Amino acid sequence: MKRDDDSLDPQDWKAFREQAHRVLDDCIDRLEHAREHPWRPVPTEVRDALSLGDANDGVGTDVVAREMVELILPYATGNTHPRWFGWVHGTGLVSGLLSEMVAATMNSNCGGRDHGAAYVEREVISWCKRVFDFPETASGVLVAGTSQATVVALAVARQKALGDASRKQGICHDAPLTAYAVMGVHNAIVKALELLGLGSEALRRVPADSQTGGMNLIELRKSIAADRAHGKRPFCIIGTAGSVDSGAYDDLDALATICAEEKLWLHVDGAFGAWTKIAEDPWNLLSRGIERADSLATDFHKWMYVQYDCGLVLIRDEKDHRAAFAARPAYLAGQAQGVGGGEPWFCDYGTDLSRGFRALKVWTALRCYGRTALGRAITRNCELARLMGDYVSEAEELRLVLPVQSNLCCFSVVDDEHANAWNTQIAQELQMQGEAVFSTTKINGLTVMRAAITNHRTRPEDIRIAIDAVRTAFIRLKSSPSPHDGAG
Ligand SMILES: *Cc1c(COP(=O)(O)O)cnc(C)c1O
Repeated sequence: MKRDDDSLDPQDWKAFREQAHRVLDDCIDRLEHAREHPWRPVPTEVRDALSLGDANDGVGTDVVAREMVELILPYATGNTHPRWFGWVHGTGLVSGLLSEMVAATMNSNCGGRDHGAAYVEREVISWCKRVFDFPETASGVLVAGTSQATVVALAVARQKALGDASRKQGICHDAPLTAYAVMGVHNAIVKALELLGLGSEALRRVPADSQTGGMNLIELRKSIAADRAHGKRPFCIIGTAGSVDSGAYDDLDALATICAEEKLWLHVDGAFGAWTKIAEDPWNLLSRGIERADSLATDFHKWMYVQYDCGLVLIRDEKDHRAAFAARPAYLAGQAQGVGGGEPWFCDYGTDLSRGFRALKVWTALRCYGRTALGRAITRNCELARLMGDYVSEAEELRLVLPVQSNLCCFSVVDDEHANAWNTQIAQELQMQGEAVFSTTKINGLTVMRAAITNHRTRPEDIRIAIDAVRTAFIRLKSSPSPHDGAG
């Protein structure tokens, strides 16, 4: 396209407005009919059509608007669909469609300075402090997700354990730091320990209590004592509020008491499960004790239904948070007034200096729906997981592998010989057919089908359809030649 000037802005704003309105209509159509759009594979022609080559010459917004709608929009992950239960994926909200347009228009840099986006983020963090009963002295920052929030939180815990000099001198020391978490802890914790130079072997995986799935507290105390006796330096207990495999919760109150006695940091991984805090009885009791954590990592993009990506780290004491991250070279000096004012700056609470306006999609979700309705949606997800558990228990071909505690349901086909292979194959076939998305995981050595319901679009009939689809697939597969493990 030939241009009269070198501007990257439209030459014809009226034409651009019409293109943009068409794209918005296509997006709204897609969401209105989300029920008709499960995951589907990206055809080879489409992948080829995405090629950028060397991208020397642009084609203009009109062509790109059409390409996005035809080549990209139809091939989403699929988690906008009501029968998506795989891994832990949030659904997204229409409030997010509005907020992303506004955020893109503003193009705010939320690392610091004095502008509207910073006030929105502060409101979101204040609200979270109130929800999780953290003290006024707490601080927080929005990050990409719980993985990043974990790095920030454990960096603060490490700094607190090693003292301020470690920021200059690094973490060389005689007594290696050790941390404690339940056996089924999420790998984000392991990655954070690796990244922070403590190494994955710093993590002690404490066996789970067979009833609750939370850490066995006697084993935990034994492990801490053994490490102390061997010259290690225990520094942190990591409580899990909603484990990725089973939705189990640690007894956070008990962990907080042990941390107080042993002078350890309590970090809580509440990526999705922290939000039972706003659910109705009895599910809100699961996250009891979370208010005693020294740090909390959680996501808005999972169980708060907010668009990707958006996580949160809260630190109980802002002084600790700043001690690990605050730094202002001359080119970032704050000003008394003007856009360079507006202390405190979020760049002093994590690793990112330039940051997008994640807070707006959270703020709009809270304003549009409110805590009560979001809490009710979380409650409903737990009820649906329980319903799925009931359907599984009633089906003679299926069995529940673990009791349903929150929003997770793990189950298996009944087959002594080939259950691993059947479960794997059924999960994949239902994905390919667009019927329902289950993921798989291993529980006590068995590959099981797993549903994590963080989906505000799911209705009871979706649970029925999904479980019936599993049964039908199993019956059909069993009557065909022997199974193969499609895991590859
Ligand atoms: C998803 C998850 C994480 C990682 O969070 P991201 O937002 O994907 O980075 C950590 N812990 C648990 C329990 C999770 O479910």
